[in-house]
Amino acid sequence: MTDTGLIAKYNIPGPRYTSYPTVPYWNVPQWEADQWCELIRVSQHDDRSKRLALYIHLPYCDSLCTFCGCHKHITTNHAVEKRYIDAVLREWELLSASLDKGSLIHELHLGGGTPTFFAPEELNRLIDGIRNLFPFTPEAELSFEAHPNSTSFEHLQALHRQGFRRVSFGIQDYDQVVQKAIHRVQSFELVTACHQMAKNVGFNAISHDLVYGLPKQTLAGFQDTVQRTLELKPERISLYSYAHVPWIKGTGQRGYSESDLPEPNLKREIYELSKQLLVANGYLEIGMDHFALPDDSLAKATREKKLHRNFMGYTPNASNLLIGLGMSAISECTFGFAQNEKTTERYLQLIESDRLPITRGHHMSAMDVEIRRHILNLMCHFETELPKDTLLSRLELELQLSELVSDGLVAWDGDTIRVLPKGIPFVRNCCMAFDAYLKDQHAVKRFSMTI
Ligand code: SF4
Repeated sequence: MTDTGLIAKYNIPGPRYTSYPTVPYWNVPQWEADQWCELIRVSQHDDRSKRLALYIHLPYCDSLCTFCGCHKHITTNHAVEKRYIDAVLREWELLSASLDKGSLIHELHLGGGTPTFFAPEELNRLIDGIRNLFPFTPEAELSFEAHPNSTSFEHLQALHRQGFRRVSFGIQDYDQVVQKAIHRVQSFELVTACHQMAKNVGFNAISHDLVYGLPKQTLAGFQDTVQRTLELKPERISLYSYAHVPWIKGTGQRGYSESDLPEPNLKREIYELSKQLLVANGYLEIGMDHFALPDDSLAKATREKKLHRNFMGYTPNASNLLIGLGMSAISECTFGFAQNEKTTERYLQLIESDRLPITRGHHMSAMDVEIRRHILNLMCHFETELPKDTLLSRLELELQLSELVSDGLVAWDGDTIRVLPKGIPFVRNCCMAFDAYLKDQHAVKRFSMTI
């Protein structure tokens, strides 16, 4: 079958698998705080789960980018910063009572929203407060997302002093027509200045996040974006597929029409051309949508088969316990998931009344645990092995994978299921064959398209 034929056949709504089960199928509508804390306690049974990954969601942004799929709160009132940081620190204090006293923080990521919306002094106060309760491991990776329009020398200096060495700049696309359509205007000159400033301060792991499939995007325009990115040679480049889900994300993604989006073949062409350029310039393709220079920690983790994936995306640090702090943040432990309240005011009110702000989540069954492992293996290493005592029905799995196998995208060899090079763009479709929850077609339609 031609590439065009494959895209027409397999470009269907499907999850990105930053979790399994995916959020629409979670089975706990409202966690009791005690139940969730108990689940965390029993999950910390081994050394790996005593090395925590911490994600802190900082939701405020000065201005709305219309393509945005994040949980954010748009405001220009910076008086909100102090109350929010107080709340996150209080949440950390409340949660820490359930953590093993020997826990260490092995990974910390500040995401958003816009972490650089906050003043450097507030970010300092946040990290000091986190460190006061549990120490970092000596090799811990501390990273943050930076908006080039609001990142100052003082931000970079403060976070570098706190031990941060990785910064991810949100770039998306340098084409001014696209920037206007997504309401996010930032020049290459500004990004270059920020990038250089970060290097001068001592950041040695810089990521640039690009997005393909955005409205008004063209092959030539995006090629130019990739070329400019290569001029700066960041250690890591994320090449995210734009997820068009206006029915979930509200008005933000309605600032343009469907006809402004590149059609699926063009979208794939943009990815493939970008990949060729990046690989020709020494980057290695990692997982589904990342590229890294050979010395980057993500490239090393891939070589050593230690690559992991969670709500933060791909990470070199596999921890069994991810604690999410802040509005909308998601936590994951061996046996389940929990998400925080998704409106800022409600999150703040709950914390201020000394209650954990958790809402819905999932309690994993043994079958969920096995399928999560296969999906993680496929998303990170493009292969997985069925254990002798698998809980899955081989017959049913064979049936679900049969078309991918006959189209030459997947090979099944003994107990090993492998995504073939031609099948890599369709890895989400392969994971869907394992997914035991995708029977509710109404819910499936809520996901973005797989290509
Ligand atoms: S893309 Fe980033 S800066 Fe823009 S609205 Fe979304 S979270 Fe805020």
